[in-house]
Amino acid sequence: MILIDNFNFAGKKAIIRVDFNVPLNKETGEVSDDTRIRGALPTIKKVIADGGCAILMSHMGRPKQNPDPKYSLKQIIPAIEKYLGKIQFAPDCQKAEEQAKNLKAGEILLLENLRFYAEEEGKPRMEKDDPAYEDAKKALKSAQKDFAKKLASYADVYVNDAFGTAHRKHGSTAVIADYFADDAKMFGFLINNELKAMDKVLGDAQRPFTAIMGGAKVSDKINVIKNLLGRVDNLIIGGGMTYTFVKALGGQIGSSLCEADKLDLANEILAEAKAKGVKVFLPIDAVNADKFDKDAATNTSDVDKTPEGWMGLDIAEKSIKQFTEVITSSKTVIWNGPMGVFEFDKFAKGTSAVAQAVADATQKNGAFTLIGGGDSVAAINKNRLADKVSYVSTGGGAMLEYMEGKILPGIAAIRGDK
Ligand code: AMP
Repeated sequence: MILIDNFNFAGKKAIIRVDFNVPLNKETGEVSDDTRIRGALPTIKKVIADGGCAILMSHMGRPKQNPDPKYSLKQIIPAIEKYLGKIQFAPDCQKAEEQAKNLKAGEILLLENLRFYAEEEGKPRMEKDDPAYEDAKKALKSAQKDFAKKLASYADVYVNDAFGTAHRKHGSTAVIADYFADDAKMFGFLINNELKAMDKVLGDAQRPFTAIMGGAKVSDKINVIKNLLGRVDNLIIGGGMTYTFVKALGGQIGSSLCEADKLDLANEILAEAKAKGVKVFLPIDAVNADKFDKDAATNTSDVDKTPEGWMGLDIAEKSIKQFTEVITSSKTVIWNGPMGVFEFDKFAKGTSAVAQAVADATQKNGAFTLIGGGDSVAAINKNRLADKVSYVSTGGGAMLEYMEGKILPGIAAIRGDK
């Protein structure tokens, strides 16, 4: 596998899969958060600085037709030009050969939203129970190859720098790689950094190693938890998934979130953790609410004595103290999912405290800390701690799948993972 660091793009046309799936302000249509655009800049700038030209391709949103102005990447041109100067735009990603051919060194061409074509995802745009679905899917699979081949024809080299879609086998994220030789395809800087951070915690973690798992449901995180059990020393559980464990252990959970069909699974995890010598920390106490509302009345109780009719929406003081101690004495920390309903101020304290503890572990204990998943990233940003932790992942779903030990098609297409 070749590395972008050592590659010279002089005189080459590079087609770069970026993740420009950015949020737009509903009223003005302007990009409201350009983090993803900024994330792609090092790779694009390297291509240009070497004397190559860059063809940028991305999806945005979930368009259902071609074209759909609401999802046009034309809208984000000013947000890109702010960092890269004037760029060109191809209004149809499958009809850009002339523009690509005429590109000169240092020039940048942005292709229109790839998902204007169903071929990008290879998924028919009809209900799964439609009798025509299976045939349409088969037809799209072969059309996807032509779609990707067309994109590949624009360039000499392929660079994948869209970590957020690396877990999808799409035209531009995986299939396209088949049309480039091994020495003409590589990851961009962003994906390289993501892989470095994740491989460090999965393969080369300093101890004690603590995983903090929060968020709504056990079922979403179960495979990650299982894969991490063989690696971590401590497993901290918080958020809504707490109560499936507490109930499984015989506690009273009032009307807290609970996955009744996952009680056995919760017990299995606890038994497996014990067998592997992993210390599991469930919350000790909780802040409860009389309804799921930002203005709900609150009280505090032991986590396993939630009063009837109340629901636990955050961890309380004793839990915060214990979790903080465990986190700040760790040398490796991975955190996915909030400790409570942090979207409501009344129930954000536990998540903020954990964010602070992760930052303190990094700054004061020299720990390597990796944060991933949309909500924990939002919590870190809300607490203005993003630059106080080691790495904030850009891909929620992709990161979770990698942590589960799954092969990501976008990574395998270049690195050859099996
Ligand atoms: P996830 O996407 O699985 O990481 O879940 C994040 C969501 O879990 C956030 O929207 C939180 O509001 C929610 N959440 C966290 N703690 C609780 C809780 N105790 N009860 C209900 N929802 C929760």
